[in-house]
Amino acid sequence: MLQIHPVNSSIETWNPSIEGTILSLFDPSPQAENWEKNVDQQILKIAYQFLRQIEASSDIELPDLMAQFQEFHLPDDASSFDTYLESLTKTLIPHSIHTSSPRFIGHMTSALPHFMRPLAKLMTALNQNLVKTETAKAFTPYERQALGILHRSLYQFPDEFYDYHLQNSHSTLGMVVSGGTSANFTAIWCARNSSLGPKGDFKGIEKEGLAAALEFYGYQGQVIIGSSLMHYSFEKAADLLGIGSQGLIKIPASRHNRIDLDCLRETVAECRAQKQHIIAIVGIAGTTDSGGIDPIEEMAAIAQAAGVHFHVDAAWGGPLIFSQQHRHKLAGIEQADSVTIDAHKQLYAPMGIGMVMFQNPQLAKAIEKHACYTVREGSADLGQRSLEGSRPAMSLFLHAGLHAIGLKGYEFLIDEGIRKTQYMAEQVRLSPEFELLAEPEINLLIYRYIPEQLREFVAKGELTETQNQAIDLVNEQLQKAQRHAGKTFIARTITQTTRYGPMAIVALRAALANPLTTEADIDAVLDDQIALATQLNLGGSQF
Ligand SMILES: *Cc1c(COP(=O)(O)O)cnc(C)c1O
Repeated sequence: MLQIHPVNSSIETWNPSIEGTILSLFDPSPQAENWEKNVDQQILKIAYQFLRQIEASSDIELPDLMAQFQEFHLPDDASSFDTYLESLTKTLIPHSIHTSSPRFIGHMTSALPHFMRPLAKLMTALNQNLVKTETAKAFTPYERQALGILHRSLYQFPDEFYDYHLQNSHSTLGMVVSGGTSANFTAIWCARNSSLGPKGDFKGIEKEGLAAALEFYGYQGQVIIGSSLMHYSFEKAADLLGIGSQGLIKIPASRHNRIDLDCLRETVAECRAQKQHIIAIVGIAGTTDSGGIDPIEEMAAIAQAAGVHFHVDAAWGGPLIFSQQHRHKLAGIEQADSVTIDAHKQLYAPMGIGMVMFQNPQLAKAIEKHACYTVREGSADLGQRSLEGSRPAMSLFLHAGLHAIGLKGYEFLIDEGIRKTQYMAEQVRLSPEFELLAEPEINLLIYRYIPEQLREFVAKGELTETQNQAIDLVNEQLQKAQRHAGKTFIARTITQTTRYGPMAIVALRAALANPLTTEADIDAVLDDQIALATQLNLGGSQF
């Protein structure tokens, strides 16, 4: 017999106001639209107030902020959004970092063009999931188009190539991922799987695993080779892909922050003699700490001769391809089997988007996966060949940037950043208070502050190790003091490729990508450092 249960039998104990409140949160009614318009206006006001600040951050200490985020009970009742927003304006927003400040020139995160902000709203409103066409439809060919445009800028294949591959679901010209880390990982993953693929009875590393693959192919182990300046994302890739960080061979970089080619050739020969499988050789186009660019053309030739996958990590420097004046610095990049480019760095998209590009549109087949309820074989689903499953339509920012900024716009941005870096390098060179630690290749600059008593030794190039250590300490203190004061910001790194030999030296690092930064801002940042050093009497007494 059919038993009929009364709907909501617990209605008496159920708070109807919760139903009303929660359902109204989802309802796209005209009232909701009005509400949102109102909130948008408030948020715009808050955002622009934030964006117009000159200072890089507030000077509140982190422990004091931690004290404000100590509550760990989930609230029983929903608070009104107004109340919630108000709390954000008190505790969160004033103490976030003003990454678009013209005087925040230490990191790779900077100002965004204004059209990115409404696009972020549109992305959330449409809430597409790029894992499959069933949840993305037009966004699938749209994303492929953006990747194709970038691919053509990079590899410059003839039009017929793009006519054939751009919207061909069997081809993968590139992938949109969450950033440079995932892009590097994906590239190494493809290199690993395609170089240890199925052959004869062996079903490939993907099915049989690493141990079986090495045994089948007769290898003793596997390695990735790059310079000592490789980004630490390769440590993650080596770990996750079963290579191990010991398998990450780091060849010393020269004084120009480039890989030593002779050492690379020797290492390749040694690995082969010792039956170590080389999964990839990695070239860097813009090292994270100083912007050095590896000799890509020569590295490509070495990789090609050895039959090894050549990956170029151009997370930062990739957009140099848009500059007629500077593109030559990346000569040979079109020979790379894969290339990483971050859109959230020098393509001026908001945080959370990077790309990996493939020279061979079939390479990513090596990592293809299917599931019967989604990403079906032979479909156009982008999730077939990506590490991530559900994925937002971040490609909106890439596609929009490529159209609303365009080739000439990106060229201007790149050229300007490099020009301003040259200006800053010149100021550093002219100031006895500073020492330039490397001639800038692009728009990253490393230098350091020198206490007065040691300037004559620096001028003569006669610093002892102890004196260098004392300078390290001064620069550490100076960078921390500057960050804490919050008016201006420069990052800090360690370099081992200066005129002082392989000694590790603490360096101040500037990244000049913010189009709002003027020469006066650069002067202000340097003046701030001199003033702080004097004020703190850094290096005053210890020498
Ligand atoms: C920033 C950067 C990465 C990592 O990118 P994320 O987007 O931070 O994951 C990798 N390589 C280089 C050279 C970078 O500059």
